[in-house]
Amino acid sequence: MGGLRVRSVLVTGANRGIGLGLVQHLLGLPNPPEWVFAACRDPKGQRAQELQNLASKHPNLVIIPLEVTDPASIKAAAASVGERLKDSGLNLLINNAGISHYKSFDSKTQEDMAQVYATNTIGPLLLSQAFLPLLKKAAQGSPGSGLSCSKAAIINMSSYAGSIQDVYCWEYGQAISYRCSKAALNMLTKCQSLGYREHGILCAALHPGWVQTDMGNAAGKKPPLTVDESVGGMLKVISSLSEKDTGTFLDWEGKVLPW
Ligand code: NDP
Repeated sequence: MGGLRVRSVLVTGANRGIGLGLVQHLLGLPNPPEWVFAACRDPKGQRAQELQNLASKHPNLVIIPLEVTDPASIKAAAASVGERLKDSGLNLLINNAGISHYKSFDSKTQEDMAQVYATNTIGPLLLSQAFLPLLKKAAQGSPGSGLSCSKAAIINMSSYAGSIQDVYCWEYGQAISYRCSKAALNMLTKCQSLGYREHGILCAALHPGWVQTDMGNAAGKKPPLTVDESVGGMLKVISSLSEKDTGTFLDWEGKVLPW
């Protein structure tokens, strides 16, 4: 993991599950970022207790309020991060926050389709728009011509469940809204990679594996991966991404997944 040397990183949905694991691992790197922005809905609340404990020990950890379905909250988060970074940009934006409804066709409603899409797909779009100036600034401020996550990148936490070709784990649940939202997130990632390449920003979609979190456990069977295994693998993958990987869909071990 020696390759990942980011000055600044922002993780959404950072108060529990994979997001919290990412923050913990980033803080524990041999060369930790100067700034780790951990975004969550209620920084002062009970659900952010673990982040608060971490922040009391790590001065480079800043907890930022963020509701990813609220454009005003996203703009405020970008402004607050920008103020702290002053003249430098944001190297790495990890769009991790997400929700899932394990519902079948019969019980799907307009409301839950819209809520899952707003969180898992529109949220990452609005975040990338709001943080684009800071990502561009990071790319401009980094030496070298190739793309990398140490320079400037957007990582979208996707899911193999959104693969149209493989429809991973159909037997464990139809999760229609979730699958549709992640398939759309994959397309968004591809579009971002094409649109942002000229700005020096790498964009990729990652599947974290099936992980022991509130979401992973809700699928009805014990997931095979711990948060530490998943996050350790993903950070290795993130550190190894280069020009050729922008616009790809990879799993936590770096394997290319079918769209
Ligand atoms: P969890 O349910 O454990 O955590 C979800 C996180 O997202 C929480 O921090 C939650 O905050 C946050 N969140 C949800 N909605 C919003 C919102 N509207 N605004 C801000 N934050 C929000 O999930 P995981 O850690 O398991 O999942 C993380 C990502 O990984 C997701 O995108 C998920 O789809 C993906 N993934 C997970 C897999 C797994 O097996 N676990 C498999 C494949 C993909 P709060 O506490 O406030 O609700």
